[in-house]
Amino acid sequence: MKYSVVFCLVLFSSCAKQSLSQVDPEVAAEIAKIKVIDNHAHPVRPTAAGEAPDKDYDALPVENLEAATDPVRFRHNGNPVIGRASQAMFQGDKAGAFKTWGANYAATVLDRAGIDRMVANRVSMGAGLPESRFLWAAYADALMYPFATGALAVNSDRKLFFELEAKLQEQYRKESGSKARSLEEYLSQVVTSTLERHKKGGAIGEKFEMAYLRSLAVGNPSRAEAERVWKAAATHPADYRILQDFLFRYIAAECGRLGMAVHIHTGMGGGGYFDMAGSNPAHLETLFNDPALRKTNFVMLHGGWPYSREAAGLLTKPNAYIDTSVQGLILAQSNVAGNLREWLELAPEKVLFGTDAYPMAPDAGMGWEETAWASTEVIRQALGLALTAMVNEGSVSRQRAVEIARLVLRENAVRLYGLK
Ligand SMILES: [Zn+2]
Repeated sequence: MKYSVVFCLVLFSSCAKQSLSQVDPEVAAEIAKIKVIDNHAHPVRPTAAGEAPDKDYDALPVENLEAATDPVRFRHNGNPVIGRASQAMFQGDKAGAFKTWGANYAATVLDRAGIDRMVANRVSMGAGLPESRFLWAAYADALMYPFATGALAVNSDRKLFFELEAKLQEQYRKESGSKARSLEEYLSQVVTSTLERHKKGGAIGEKFEMAYLRSLAVGNPSRAEAERVWKAAATHPADYRILQDFLFRYIAAECGRLGMAVHIHTGMGGGGYFDMAGSNPAHLETLFNDPALRKTNFVMLHGGWPYSREAAGLLTKPNAYIDTSVQGLILAQSNVAGNLREWLELAPEKVLFGTDAYPMAPDAGMGWEETAWASTEVIRQALGLALTAMVNEGSVSRQRAVEIARLVLRENAVRLYGLK
């Protein structure tokens, strides 16, 4: 028994190695050539010495959470691909590159990673991230929490997250210049005005980190129910949920009206208190099916992993899209290939390339730069493997495989966001 297990493992690993070198050469050549559009990442704004360091790369940074078990590939020296990134991008001298590339630093990082344009999921944009290369996805969660959130802070991680959302809610109110008292005023003078400001500032979408704050199961309460909760300023979790659900649908509908996509974190998240079951993209079906939201395009970020298959099942909804972000950082290419393949067999025109580049440990060789390079590397390989398997099985022709590679790496994002 023991021997047979070992034998199988040896066989399996040699098969896996072999399959990696078996990407169809024509497909591989095309994939290597395409300048990709990254649907989801957290680039850091380069700042000069003495300038306050950039903190806007995430509304809810995951660096101060209670200890949890990090996935192996997130650990120091745990990711063999990230280990190669510094040499490939900076010839091992990141500080030197930062000096030499100067104002072109962030754009040159994209060049080195083979990325044409990157959707920066940030609280704000700013100097150092040129508009010609960096698109913006802003944050909308804070708009769902107009009242005190003390009763929702059920653990230390949630407490920290809600404190950050409260600051952003305050910032959005300030920027809106409104003392909104009624729900009606809040909707028009704070929510809509914030979304319109984001749109004017160049945002192509709004991102929800809702899975870090509550379950993705969004009810569909009436306006009257929301009014009742608003008037009572009810902060009890059950009542507050009604108002959140109402606000989420209002925001999503407004995004549709303004031509902005709604990006939603789906699947596994950081921290030991993360609500895995609540992050299942299957919860989003009620939103995709809401006739009032059919003009809103939703993107299931992170491909819902580990609920990749549930996410796949939603791709037949006309307004549902999916991206590969984070998968290239936590999974090996063969696993990503398996997930990709299920999506590609269903709706290849709804699948987007994404990295989730993030400053995980910038001083330890895991900055947004290295993670952008590594995630791109893994997803390119995974896409090659998935398409090659489809060609070999006769699901698609080689020519169609090459077309699908272009769709996933670039053209689907161009179409979804109306890019030039
Ligand atoms: Zn992200």
